[in-house]
Amino acid sequence: MTTMKSNLHPSTEMLEKFVSGDLSVGVNLAISAHVEMCDQCKSAIQEIELRTADQWTNAESSSSAVYQADTASMIDSIIATPQLKEPIEEESEVGSIHMLDRSVKLPKVLAKAASEGLVWKQLGAGISQADVKIDEEAHCSFLYMKPGSQTPVHKHQGTETTLVLDGSMTDELGEYGKSDFIFRTNNDTHQPRTEDGCLCFSVLDSPLTFTKGLARLLNPINRLRFQRAVGKTLS
Ligand SMILES: [Zn+2]
Repeated sequence: MTTMKSNLHPSTEMLEKFVSGDLSVGVNLAISAHVEMCDQCKSAIQEIELRTADQWTNAESSSSAVYQADTASMIDSIIATPQLKEPIEEESEVGSIHMLDRSVKLPKVLAKAASEGLVWKQLGAGISQADVKIDEEAHCSFLYMKPGSQTPVHKHQGTETTLVLDGSMTDELGEYGKSDFIFRTNNDTHQPRTEDGCLCFSVLDSPLTFTKGLARLLNPINRLRFQRAVGKTLS
């Protein structure tokens, strides 16, 4: 056996929901960005689409009613911005994100989602975050962890979707590299850390709770920030 780095994918159930359009905008975005980097999921989605089309035509038995599961146009309509007519080119300021020693080319859907520009803010301890305001109900952001940094220990109240765009990170449950898709549900407590730096796209459907030390003091602030981000009041 070779010691290949684990490569994590969305579950089949998630891919099915992706095809049927039953996921939140943010998670959809994370999955389509993953699919851009992952041939395995690309063919899995094609299979699901074919299956769905078969079911549809069988049920309808009408020759003209052919279901066109056009994932690309679905994503386009989800993240469409009216003023955006041309695809983002590589040279665009959000086509790539500059890390310390290199720049990372973004998957096309993320470059598009970030087309209004990214404003980075320091979260402390070598971690920066740039929000992408694209989902009314989830907090979507790019997260950059400097080499040698770690996030505070935290727990999820909702779900956390993380797509690794560059570099690597580890937590109690594993090691993750570029294109890995990590889906966490509530009650997972973890503390991601990185040796060589890591750029991620993250989708949170409710605020994190920090469980240890001084970081606990951040919880009310974090909730407030989340409320601002999603524009609704959580009790
Ligand atoms: Zn995959």
